[in-house]
Amino acid sequence: MTRPSSDILIIGGGIIGLMSARELLKNGARVRILERQGTGRESSWAGGGILSPLYPWRAPEPINRLFAWSHREYPDWMAQLKAETGLDPEWQRSGMWVADGDAERQAAGNWMDTFGFTGQWLKAAEARPLEPAVRWQDCNPLYLPDIAQVRNPRLLAAVRQDVLRQGGIIHEHTPVTRLIDDGQRIGGVEASGAIYNADTYVLAAGAWSAQLAATDGGEPSLLPIEPVKGQMLIFTARPGTLNRMLLCGGHYLIPRRDGRILVGSTLEYTGFDKSTTEAAAGQLVAFARHWLPETTLTLEKHWAGLRPGSPTGVPYISQHPHRTNLYLNCGHFRNGFVMAPASARLLGELIQNRPPFTNAEAYRYGRSEAVPSIPGQPTPHGSGTCSHRN
Ligand SMILES: Cc1cc2nc3c(=O)[nH]c(=O)nc-3n(C[C@H](O)[C@H](O)[C@H](O)COP(=O)(O)OP(=O)(O)OC[C@H]3O[C@@H](n4cnc5c(N)ncnc54)[C@H](O)[C@@H]3O)c2cc1C
Repeated sequence: MTRPSSDILIIGGGIIGLMSARELLKNGARVRILERQGTGRESSWAGGGILSPLYPWRAPEPINRLFAWSHREYPDWMAQLKAETGLDPEWQRSGMWVADGDAERQAAGNWMDTFGFTGQWLKAAEARPLEPAVRWQDCNPLYLPDIAQVRNPRLLAAVRQDVLRQGGIIHEHTPVTRLIDDGQRIGGVEASGAIYNADTYVLAAGAWSAQLAATDGGEPSLLPIEPVKGQMLIFTARPGTLNRMLLCGGHYLIPRRDGRILVGSTLEYTGFDKSTTEAAAGQLVAFARHWLPETTLTLEKHWAGLRPGSPTGVPYISQHPHRTNLYLNCGHFRNGFVMAPASARLLGELIQNRPPFTNAEAYRYGRSEAVPSIPGQPTPHGSGTCSHRN
């Protein structure tokens, strides 16, 4: 059976596929999404919703470029989305503590100067009245007041609704099994026993993107995206227990408005396995208890998601080198929400022949993976100096 054609067919309905659809619809395209299950049930659902890379000064410059652009866009976009859909993604500029000590003071300062963020180094005695529940001891944290957060499931529901409102078509429970090779082009995709045609195809299947890219006869290893498991806990606590996000040693606490506190996360290269482990739970509980020693925390849920891991965390937003009507928007690794608005904008500009808002070379599939960091910054994976080690 052949389905009616659309201008653009997007494979994958996570935050990246949904945001891509929204952007393309806004600019006049007819868009269809094929999603293997319900939209927004994989990595996008599992994530924490922090709208900044964890230590942005350690992140490659191309990530910071998409971060800074998205950061400027979020407030207006959130207000608009809320007005148009009636759904509230709970975007809030809650701010973030970085409690790793000041070994990276210089690097953090350079990053703030380069990308226009503000931050303040506080003494423990100054931080204490702002966050009385936190065990500051002798930690002198960096306070980043601009950093915001969203509640992922709510943002996903709102974007899904916006896509439908704009006339996008979403086929859920429709797994794509094959991209049909038509020489230099994709000739359709096979899904649930039907063939779907479009002028242009977008691969936004998160951690599954490399597998899918290979179904047209290509090599799976060519697109270097692999699943990277992250485990997370959520606790119920009294609202106001913690007012800002807190990051230390690669782990973090995210307070929601209703008092819930998320604790994340692990970074595990264990293939497509999404099981949770006692060991990870123990690590995350210990982190939460270290920072909030007097707080009654009731564990509500423990889950895992598979991040679309790319070698440097820089996503592929690009035309496919050998298939002229196939585009990629995948490999956002730890920062899919951080970069989603800018990634969708750039993809739309490339597909719809509009001038790109930024130099697209860094996001090209086939680029060199030696990605420039911010001048004078430490390596992207440098370690912090958190006093609490897990
Ligand atoms: C524990 C954890 C914490 C995180 N915290 C943050 C954070 O604080 N901030 C942040 O910005 N990012 C965070 N991330 C990363 C972020 O969640 C991801 O970068 C982002 O969700 C990637 O979005 P995506 O749409 O590419 O992938 P996904 O959300 O995984 O979506 C891909 C979609 O493709 C579908 N699909 C797969 N195969 C097929 C097929 N054959 N046919 C049809 N559909 C298919 C899947 O079902 C899925 O819905 C976190 C991730 C985890 C796991």
